[in-house]
Amino acid sequence: AQERYTSIRDKPAQTRNGAVVSLHMNAGLMADLPSLVNSGAEGVGLFRTELQFLVRNQMPRRSELVALYARVLDAAQGRRVVFRTLDIGSDKVLPYMKPNDEPNPALGWRAIRVGLDKPGIMRMQLQALIRAANGRPLTVMFPFVAQFEEYREARRLMDKTMAAEKRLGHVLPESLEIGAMLETPSLAFAPVKFFEEVDFLSIGGNDLKQFFFAADRENERVRRRYDTLNVSFLSFLEGIVERCGLTKTPLSFCGEDAGRPVEAMCLAAIGFRSLSMRPASIGPVKSLLRRTDLDKLRKIIADARHRGEMSVRPSVMEWLRQQS
Ligand code: PEP
Ligand code: MG
Repeated sequence: AQERYTSIRDKPAQTRNGAVVSLHMNAGLMADLPSLVNSGAEGVGLFRTELQFLVRNQMPRRSELVALYARVLDAAQGRRVVFRTLDIGSDKVLPYMKPNDEPNPALGWRAIRVGLDKPGIMRMQLQALIRAANGRPLTVMFPFVAQFEEYREARRLMDKTMAAEKRLGHVLPESLEIGAMLETPSLAFAPVKFFEEVDFLSIGGNDLKQFFFAADRENERVRRRYDTLNVSFLSFLEGIVERCGLTKTPLSFCGEDAGRPVEAMCLAAIGFRSLSMRPASIGPVKSLLRRTDLDKLRKIIADARHRGEMSVRPSVMEWLRQQS
């Protein structure tokens, strides 16, 4: 199926009305890396570092992480790689960590919360990333940031780690970008200062949607009730795009929805210009974007909202059918 898209692989995801959307891929294992060149992705928009921790039966050593991250950067050949620090807890339980019995793990001790409470592991990971970069640019992203202070605290840990690495004689990255994942509704309403301080934001749509509708992403029974193209969710996402626009905060979207062509097209219509998805989705998403006039699509979305529809999906699908 991928062959169908080879003719557009090196072409931009430029829409009929001239907007350019940059498409990146999600990765986590070495096996994903050949896709970086094959898929036509501009870079890795989300490198899920926890996968390396999940496939082992003991905590990886720092030296192993340095080697691994260096190989990832080598394979990227200068393309940007966004390393997300350990996102464990909830549905991702490390076999060698004592499980903590929580009645609501999705709302529990996970991701950055673990990282800040037990900074040893996060510090080791940040050291490994700095050493792997070895003078190259480095991009790091913290998962599941629910409030400004958590980002600040994580960033302070990075600053301290950089200073310590320098004292030890390691080469520091040529440039450093530190972003946050926006996965809880709370962060969308953080103070303007947060949007100014953060180097970039990436929406974790899987978690964000789970918390927006209060529907477990793992629970098929409730998950399917709520459409990503629901007008309430779209308005909420639009608000985030707007806030980021005011502070010129680079924004991308990296949940599974970014890899679904119709959803991706609608995300572009409400203002997203950077999406990160599984490699196999890049071709289909690019293909649809290149055939879409976002100005016309915006009108379809606005009309559906005006009519009070719950989701814009039926109108968007009807519009697509008329065009084909
Ligand atoms: C998300 O929540 O949308 C996301 C990209 O992260 P993960 O699926 O790994 O939680
Ligand atoms: Mg998430």
